[in-house]
Amino acid sequence: MAQLVLATRNEGKVKEIAALLAPLGIEVVSLAAFPEIPEIPEDGDTFVENALAKARAVAARTGQLVMADDSGLEVDALNGAPGVHSARFAGEPRDDARNNQKLLRLLEGVPWEQRSARFRCVIALVTPGGMERVAEGVCEGFIGYEPRGTGGFGYDPLFYVPEFDRTFAELDLDTKNRISHRGRALMAVQKLVAKMLGC
Ligand code: IMP
Repeated sequence: MAQLVLATRNEGKVKEIAALLAPLGIEVVSLAAFPEIPEIPEDGDTFVENALAKARAVAARTGQLVMADDSGLEVDALNGAPGVHSARFAGEPRDDARNNQKLLRLLEGVPWEQRSARFRCVIALVTPGGMERVAEGVCEGFIGYEPRGTGGFGYDPLFYVPEFDRTFAELDLDTKNRISHRGRALMAVQKLVAKMLGC
């Protein structure tokens, strides 16, 4: 069975991705299996830079095929912010409620049609031999005037998806995973992995 190292310590992501790659005969191991690898800084200007930097660092240390992701929210009225700074938009320590409050404050008085936004997810694949591939997924929506829903995490209660007339936090997890930036990037990457491993 082929093995792939997922450059994350987030067990939720590991489960989701392992389930997707299992039918291809690919076993996923996370950074939990490599406690000696330190935290890799995410200080690039783009999601692609961050995902590639993480994947390269882990490939160099493990000598295995590595997958790494980076994602965030881009709000048009804020010129793409919070973007790569999504997790810590309101500063340290990372705090979803404060991030959401800051976003609402910055959009005060901004009318609906100018509140367009998207979640973007980039997934990088790097082989120990230096082959690199990148897949991307995007989900378009609008930033609501107030939080709605209790599911999900991060900016989910503010991210309204017109197609479903719901925020991400009001959607059941299966529906969110199907249409989300991460779900779409994962679909694209599934094909790339199969090609790279000759499955
Ligand atoms: P990460 O790269 O997956 O760790 O995501 C970085 C940050 O982007 C998170 O801390 C959230 O603030 C935001 N984010 C990414 N994906 C989502 C999502 O699906 N829902 C809500 N917020 C998200």
